[in-house]
Amino acid sequence: RSKSAGRNCFTIYDEAMSAELEARNTLEGDLRDAIARCQLEVHYQPFVDALSGARRGFEALVRWRHPTRGLIPPDQFISLAEETGLIVPLGEFVLRRACADAAGWPSGLAVAVNLSPIQFKEARLFEVICAALADSGLQPQRLEIEITESVLLERGGENHAFMQRLKQLGVELALDDFGTGYSSLSYLTAFPFDKIKIDKSFIRNLTQQPRSSAIISSIVTLARGLDMSVTAEGVETREEYERLKALGVNFAQGYLFGRPQPIERILFDAPAKPSRRDAA
Ligand code: C2E
Ligand code: MG
Ligand code: MG
Ligand code: MG
Repeated sequence: RSKSAGRNCFTIYDEAMSAELEARNTLEGDLRDAIARCQLEVHYQPFVDALSGARRGFEALVRWRHPTRGLIPPDQFISLAEETGLIVPLGEFVLRRACADAAGWPSGLAVAVNLSPIQFKEARLFEVICAALADSGLQPQRLEIEITESVLLERGGENHAFMQRLKQLGVELALDDFGTGYSSLSYLTAFPFDKIKIDKSFIRNLTQQPRSSAIISSIVTLARGLDMSVTAEGVETREEYERLKALGVNFAQGYLFGRPQPIERILFDAPAKPSRRDAA
């Protein structure tokens, strides 16, 4: 009896496994098609100068417009894309789209693009970035590359050299989701970051937990000493914003300032008219 029950268990387990595998394979096939058929969209979320509240740029965030499942957020397909290598063409698409879009924005606005650790393993990445800049005409100074600490764990030496080359181009480098990974402080001194993005989990606790304020203010002090700026991610309330301003963060991003939106929905100020003095 127990033997057959065991066998049944196995059967159920196998079926669950293969159903999961099948769903994954379907999703992988769909994602491959999505890239080929341009079903990926890049949405943009603003970030602002914390003191003035003025918009400084937008972060490019990918979405998948699935023919039957609707709009799929990146958390549901980025890891699959990474495991299958599809992140390479996907990432290149986002980078090119973001540079092309940003080239049409008022010149004070930057665009931030997330890069996956898998993309860092591609020898072509530098050329891909150069080509995206050259083809769009976007000034390198207006492009920010966001990477997470996981990039730094592997191939530290090679990645360091790669980041130096990007800096020489004029591209800005941001350390994303700071505080969630291994957060070795040595990364901050070892790699040439311009900006630290404090993960939204710290911001979420800010108004309830005095300890979060202490953490944020130490990050701000540390960043200043290293000549880096600090962005607070996931700012949702005015209360959080005021607190963060008082703590000295340089930039803020979050639903309070705007959700990620398709490019058509974003309003840009009209280009500045020449002042009288310019005309004279
Ligand atoms: P991330 O780079 O840390 O991006 C910020 C995420 O926080 C975005 O989620 C954004 O919509 C969300 N967010 C912004 N403000 C708020 C807020 O006030 N409250 C809350 N609760 N959330 C907020 P999204 O768009 O779902 O992206 C999730 C992650 O997927 C990104 O985290 C990034 O790691 C990854 N990702 C997105 N696009 C790309 C891409 O093109 N390439 C790669 N490699 N990864 C991407
Ligand atoms: Mg990011
Ligand atoms: Mg982040
Ligand atoms: Mg992230």
